[in-house]
Amino acid sequence: MSVFSVSASLRQSGVSLRSPDGVTLPGVETVWFETEDRRRLNFRHLPPVPGAEDKGPVMFVHGSGTRADLFCPPSTITLPALLSAAGFDVWLLNWRGSIDVEPTSYTFDDAAVFDFPAAVSEILQRTCSTVGGIKAVVHCQGSHAFMMSIASGLLPEITTVVANSTAMHPRVRWSASVKLPFALKTLGKTTEWFNPQHGLYASSFSARVLDLLVRLFHHECDNAVCKHSSFIYGVGFPTLWSHHHLDEVTHDWIKGEFAHVPVSLFRQTHRCLAAGRLVPVRGYPEIQPGVAIHEPKTDANFLFMCGSDNKTFHPSGMRKTFEHFTTRTRGTQEHWEITGYGHLDPFLGKYAAEDVFPRVIAFLEGQ
Ligand SMILES: [Zn+2]
Repeated sequence: MSVFSVSASLRQSGVSLRSPDGVTLPGVETVWFETEDRRRLNFRHLPPVPGAEDKGPVMFVHGSGTRADLFCPPSTITLPALLSAAGFDVWLLNWRGSIDVEPTSYTFDDAAVFDFPAAVSEILQRTCSTVGGIKAVVHCQGSHAFMMSIASGLLPEITTVVANSTAMHPRVRWSASVKLPFALKTLGKTTEWFNPQHGLYASSFSARVLDLLVRLFHHECDNAVCKHSSFIYGVGFPTLWSHHHLDEVTHDWIKGEFAHVPVSLFRQTHRCLAAGRLVPVRGYPEIQPGVAIHEPKTDANFLFMCGSDNKTFHPSGMRKTFEHFTTRTRGTQEHWEITGYGHLDPFLGKYAAEDVFPRVIAFLEGQ
């Protein structure tokens, strides 16, 4: 069934493809669970549409400082809704990088060892699907943590992965590679968190300094959170998307979707960028220091996709990960550079349902 016939049949049956207020998604339940290190996390669970062919469970992993609902902008056709309509049991994970769970100074290692194995176990216990294995759609820093986990052999139940923007070999443009260490040596010494919400309320001295810098350099729109996100996540005007890809409602909605990210994660990101690959920092025995050098311990099939206009992570990094995976003796991999798209608009763009989602759904259905 094509994305368009799915849309048509859903509209006829009265099922909404959109989230009316950006928070309360229709038909969605919240499912809490606990990790081995006693972090309380949850899923936003969207079951398959009744009567649809059983396609099995699919887990979504958002980026850091956002949340599960990020995949569900309020005014466009969303990928989770289309997958539910196609028969997938959709589990939108709020891992420890979510702004909807208790804040902590986490690293990729913590999520790799504790969050994703627990999440997979929880889905397998709860899903009503009879299709074996779990598929995954992972994004940004969530993709880094997830890739560290699956490449370490911690997620043998995952059969298929769509990774967006970056995976195991993060690269950024030259301007961002200069800006990040400077920010860590200055602002990073005065705070534990970088937070785009400081565009709306700057509650500390470091927050006011950051807000002043954003006001000096960013004049591309009147959305303070959009501009602060651009300042924090790379160099661009804006950085995370192209304004012409977002409709007005989505651009306004993102004000509530971006908040605190611990400086600990930016420090690890800096080490990864310097090494040209994921670098574990906690010393957990489950993750080898050379996890991004050795053959990945997974036979899952991967679609590595990245917008050609990505201003957060350079598209060459995703190509590098794809090439790394081609050396595997098991599993398949595809690489897709999405012409004209950026970091996050492959999920939030007003034309993503036509330009991006059909290939993602076909990949998930075909594996
Ligand atoms: Zn904007």
